[in-house]
Amino acid sequence: MSDTAPLPEITLPELFAEWDVAGRRVPVEGVLEPTFRCNLRCVHCYVNQPAGSAQEKAREMPTARALSVIDEIADAGCLNLLMTGGEVLLRPDFAELYLHALQRGLLVTVFTNGTLVTERIAELFDRHRPLLVEVSLYGATRETYERITGVPGSFDRCLEGIRRLVDRGVPLKLKTVDGKTATLTADLTLSRDAAKLINRVAGKKVVGKGAPLGSASSTVTRG
Ligand code: SF4
Repeated sequence: MSDTAPLPEITLPELFAEWDVAGRRVPVEGVLEPTFRCNLRCVHCYVNQPAGSAQEKAREMPTARALSVIDEIADAGCLNLLMTGGEVLLRPDFAELYLHALQRGLLVTVFTNGTLVTERIAELFDRHRPLLVEVSLYGATRETYERITGVPGSFDRCLEGIRRLVDRGVPLKLKTVDGKTATLTADLTLSRDAAKLINRVAGKKVVGKGAPLGSASSTVTRG
């Protein structure tokens, strides 16, 4: 085979069979949670230590350790890496960790609340594509959203972050909270309204469940 010949295609089940993934108990996905801090204070959350807490920062794994954890995950045979927190974009070394994961060949998904998706972060995801960015949208109105997050101004910042990702065509999934299972969010509008909202914010057509943009799950999640 010449150097330029395309690699033969193989399905994931075929690949797993070839590697004897089940027999050798090779892990498929790793998760990196390098911070318990968050800039929001969601009512349902259990990992939202204050964003500026020096005490919490001191407890977090240093960059070198986080890089080595990514190496361990890649060396163990994982295909996917989930980066989450807390709010993972609070880590000043996020770009370094993220790019290292990509360089190790991992397919990276990032969970974020969207409020810290700056132009710089959107450009990073544009130039170096994640498998998916999942943004939790805690409400379709400022009132419901900020009643959950407890932070004035967070609704607009979240929408701005979503718009930046949509503008650049970054693979994006929106998640919302299920009012049936989270009593404190009983009046939260569900995914269809969230999709309408994104249509309005981004000026783009939101496609259905399972598609890269605007698909919605009703799972209560962090990040
Ligand atoms: S649920 Fe997510 S966005 Fe909300 S406080 Fe927890 S980590 Fe932050």
